[in-house]
Amino acid sequence: MSVSERPLPQPDHDTRPYWEAARRHELLIQSCLSCGTHYFYPRPYCPLCLSELTAWVPASGRGTVYAFTVVHRPPGPGFAERGPYVVALVDLAEGPRMMSNIVGCAPEEVHSGMLVHVDFEDLTPEVSLPVFRPAR
Ligand SMILES: [Zn+2]
Repeated sequence: MSVSERPLPQPDHDTRPYWEAARRHELLIQSCLSCGTHYFYPRPYCPLCLSELTAWVPASGRGTVYAFTVVHRPPGPGFAERGPYVVALVDLAEGPRMMSNIVGCAPEEVHSGMLVHVDFEDLTPEVSLPVFRPAR
């Protein structure tokens, strides 16, 4: 089992800016130019007012763990070497909630309300995945 067996994101027209920024170790979210809502996951329209006037903006990278689970059984090839790992819903400081991994601490240290900061896991030279670490 290796990282090369891990399923990789397949950027499309709507998600390419997000993945290109992640490759540069920048976290981008979208902002509605009509109502000001920040949102994630990438979409070509605002989920609140349905405006198509949107822009990509940098996120601070700061977040709070809303909920999490510890995965003990790998879901498939490419995950077995990870051991128990944490899948979490992280509330970004800008408002959107995103699913990610918590890294850099033992799974039993993770808790709801934990302050975290984005980091990036380089899966391949072309693909980096936003993950979160405990904030210092
Ligand atoms: Zn809007």
